[in-house]
Amino acid sequence: MSRPAASAEPLVCPTCAKTYPLDERFCPTCKMPLVYAGFTGTDHPITDVGERARKIKPQYSEGELVRVAGARNQSEAEFIQGMLLEEGIPSVQRRSRGFDVPDFLAAGPRDVLVPESGALPAREVLLEADLVPTDAPSGIAPGRLALGLLALVALIAVVAWLGTEVLG
Ligand SMILES: [Zn+2]
Repeated sequence: MSRPAASAEPLVCPTCAKTYPLDERFCPTCKMPLVYAGFTGTDHPITDVGERARKIKPQYSEGELVRVAGARNQSEAEFIQGMLLEEGIPSVQRRSRGFDVPDFLAAGPRDVLVPESGALPAREVLLEADLVPTDAPSGIAPGRLALGLLALVALIAVVAWLGTEVLG
């Protein structure tokens, strides 16, 4: 698996990391929909592709694509994909059906799909991470994160208040 050459072939297979020109849609080898190599966010430069492909476990790359999670937008879907990749599970994201948002926008809900052989471990990963792997369109529990932040802010406020009380 050699590192892809610059941006002459801007599409990349999420499974085997081969690069393709723009007129391809699917990887002929893996049947995976190709993604834009430089289109996965600022923290995933093109040089990451080889690294990602290396993490993928072949036993999770077999079978039809099945939906394991729903995300509210592209970055949430990428977050989920990153978690799955840590476990060696390749995934693709697709715009959820029935939402009429132009393709170039990052907004709009996404489905995260994995090969059938990776679906079970993927669901376990999502369960552990508190991401609900149901058919209901849901993603990261935002309440939990907000509560945690709130608690932190409250703690800082109390500490600051105690500080001024003692010193004053
Ligand atoms: Zn491929």
